[in-house]
Amino acid sequence: MTILHDLSAGIGHTPLLRLRHASELTGCEILAKTELLNPGGSIKDRTALGLLLDAEQRGLLRPGGRIVEGTAGNTGIGLALLGASRGYRTVIFMPQTQSREKIDALRITGAEVRLVPAVPYKDPTHYAHQARAHAAALNAADPGSAWFADQFDNTANRDWHEATTGVEIWEQTAGAVDGFVCAAGTGGTLAGVGRALKARRPGVRIALADPAGSALASFVNTGELVASGNSISEGIGSSRVTANFAGAPIDCAWSIADDESVPLAHRLLHEEGWCVGGSSGVNIAGAIRLACALGPGHTIVTVLCDAGTRYQAKLFNPAFLRQQGIPVPAWLTQAFAR
Ligand code: PMP
Repeated sequence: MTILHDLSAGIGHTPLLRLRHASELTGCEILAKTELLNPGGSIKDRTALGLLLDAEQRGLLRPGGRIVEGTAGNTGIGLALLGASRGYRTVIFMPQTQSREKIDALRITGAEVRLVPAVPYKDPTHYAHQARAHAAALNAADPGSAWFADQFDNTANRDWHEATTGVEIWEQTAGAVDGFVCAAGTGGTLAGVGRALKARRPGVRIALADPAGSALASFVNTGELVASGNSISEGIGSSRVTANFAGAPIDCAWSIADDESVPLAHRLLHEEGWCVGGSSGVNIAGAIRLACALGPGHTIVTVLCDAGTRYQAKLFNPAFLRQQGIPVPAWLTQAFAR
């Protein structure tokens, strides 16, 4: 019998799931880390734990202190839950455009949630800058009382994925992994897993699946940060190269539109019973593209980052999807007609 001694012990060690449709379509074994099974419901529980352990080890967070972070939501949920289990208070700055489900999930963790306008990173009111400034103000008033987690540029994020997510993928596939692909928000997952796998098998292909509206695919392919289009996915894509993304060993990148990724998320629920969010749809699309590039017989790993229930009012809402020009499957329309 496995007994978890606390919340942190329940983070990670997620099973690999074989994606049936994607595997049959491509003749490859397409496997996904089921990160939605983490206690806070997303891959960002790992990031939160990695950042927090690093801060504790370096003495940056005192007992009862405040964790401060800017986040699209999932990192905040992970930090707030870990904070609850370890005796810290949590203050989260979050763009008000994020899903109601994530905002509510964060509120019930007991975190202080500050919703701010969604503005470009260069704007000083961007959520990450407001979080950094808030931590600085708390520390000015009471030195050592707050820690800014800084998931985008604190490379403890990438290092934790290298040490956990990447090593787990290597061990779970017994080293028989030909490619890994996922989207990047902070870039911690892609950079960390990429480093872990390349260190063990230099020929492994590491690919970026980038949502429309993000500049990272263009950066990987041309060295220029150029974005076009937009996406309903949350938590992924970037207009800049973060410290976690910088230098990641990425071989190729694709920009993926919602009309390619969202139907894959819908199909996974309808045919395989897994309800995943938009970033997982982008990842599955990337895995299919990488499988096509490598040819049949290869093993490709990707990530199911969080659950679709976290975006129900958008991702599974026929009226919203129609408004965005995204195909609505007949079964979804029927589900709401009954
Ligand atoms: N998917 C979701 C749902 C996320 O919240 C995030 C992180 N913001 C990612 C993917 C991307 O992960 P990373 O930050 O490690 O690039």
